[in-house]
Amino acid sequence: MTSGPRTYGHLIDGTSVPGDSLDIIERFSPTSDSLVATFAEGTDADIDHAVAIARQEFDRGGWRNRPAAERQVVLNRWADLVEQNAERIAVLEVEEVGKPIVQARGGLAASVDLIRYAASLTHSILDGSAHTDHGREYSAFVLREPVGVVAAIVPWNFPALLYCQKVPFALAAGCSVIAKPSEYTSSSAIELTLLAHTAGVPVGALGVLTGYGRSTGARLAGAKGVDFVSFTGSTLSGKAVMNAASTNLTDVSLELGGKGANILFPDADIEAAVDAILVAAYFNQGQCCSAGSRIVVHREIAGEVKERLVAESLRLVVGDPFDPRTDIGALIHGDHLRSVMASVDQAESQGARRLTSGGQVWPLGEATGNFFSPIILDQVSPDMAVFQREIFGPVVSITEFDGDRDAVDFVNDSDYGLAHSIWTADLSRAMSMWRDLRCGTVWVNTSMETRSSIPFGGVASSGFGSEMGADGGREFTVAKVLHVRTTPSPGFFQAT
Ligand code: NAD
Repeated sequence: MTSGPRTYGHLIDGTSVPGDSLDIIERFSPTSDSLVATFAEGTDADIDHAVAIARQEFDRGGWRNRPAAERQVVLNRWADLVEQNAERIAVLEVEEVGKPIVQARGGLAASVDLIRYAASLTHSILDGSAHTDHGREYSAFVLREPVGVVAAIVPWNFPALLYCQKVPFALAAGCSVIAKPSEYTSSSAIELTLLAHTAGVPVGALGVLTGYGRSTGARLAGAKGVDFVSFTGSTLSGKAVMNAASTNLTDVSLELGGKGANILFPDADIEAAVDAILVAAYFNQGQCCSAGSRIVVHREIAGEVKERLVAESLRLVVGDPFDPRTDIGALIHGDHLRSVMASVDQAESQGARRLTSGGQVWPLGEATGNFFSPIILDQVSPDMAVFQREIFGPVVSITEFDGDRDAVDFVNDSDYGLAHSIWTADLSRAMSMWRDLRCGTVWVNTSMETRSSIPFGGVASSGFGSEMGADGGREFTVAKVLHVRTTPSPGFFQAT
């Protein structure tokens, strides 16, 4: 663990700026009562300052006019530095998020991979098309340009990883970026940004504004001079961001909440499915947008699935996130823990039956952290709130079905549309079913898999736009059309 609380200001123009506000954000560890970091709250003056610097860098064309090969070298150097500092940043993530160190390390490794992948896009991200089929005298070119100044607003569940799903891609396109991490977990964004500057990203092309979402985040989304808001967070906040961005008709992409399902058919490999469900439901304490927390299982195999799931869930170790044997750390804060528990209580009052006692635990003796062991709820019907709402904790619901159509209808009966898994040995059933599921990602006989080169995004209340892959990179570009005539046009009004 690091010693003593860290104190961070905003990072603007390469300088740590304490900020104008007297309001200092204190982050207490979710696993204990200790203060681990303080962050500045952003005021209008701080936001104006950060936007002016980013604007100046973009309009002057420093970073975006650098040849793609140079941007690539810088981004690759950044990836190397993040790799060298991964353990240090992983520790910050454990302290601020409460996630197990093993998972934090995995997040940092994936972040490095994202930066390297984004680096590989620099040569193609602005590719356009030439249109020479309208006669010799006229050609048109559809060019792509960097979208401009990007506000990259990131949640607390995967602070470094989600920063890296946005920032390196925007930089690969030549944008200037202002990152706005969560008020709970801002350290890694600042540390990653400092490393980017060391690698050669101009200080004007990448800054960090810290602060609360409803104040700093909302004002940044609505700030004049911001061209694009890349937002990841809750659906409620996504709507507020869209509202704020509409002031200047600023374009947005929204990666929002989800309510993932694992659909199990009688021919599924139950052992493999349950292994994957443990990850889908409990990884990061269940605080994942893509968590597959709804188990929608065919009645024929429901008994066996429940038995195995309960047994495996009880084996998981809840506790000190710095212990490499820990599977489930602490929830992000006390209010969140109480809201997870309230959802369970509500489900029980509506007829759900608990298969594990689960709930708040104090595995470290005197420790006061937000530790929570898995709760499995049986007899959950699609009309219950626990089936509909994102719980964002280690809570699984089980719903049984008889026919394929019922399974699809149950899963689609949700405002969200992010990611679901189908478990079956019959690939033709899976191939037919993925078309009917209303979501951005379908996994077949696997779950929670992502790759830097494969886009991820949602539909409906899970948002729009995508991150990662070439599609994710393209979000940070905008089309511009060039028409060229080599001989004068005949002149429309002189024809007679
Ligand atoms: P949140 O919406 O409270 O906050 C996310 C970020 O937005 C934070 O930086 C916060 O300060 C800021 N913010 C909050 N309100 C804002 C506003 N009105 N204007 C501008 N910024 C604002 O979300 P959270 O609790 O940090 O994260 C959990 C949520 O994020 C869950 O719903 C989860 O599903 C979602 N999420 C989605 C994805 C995805 O890829 N779809 C990935 C991770 C998390």
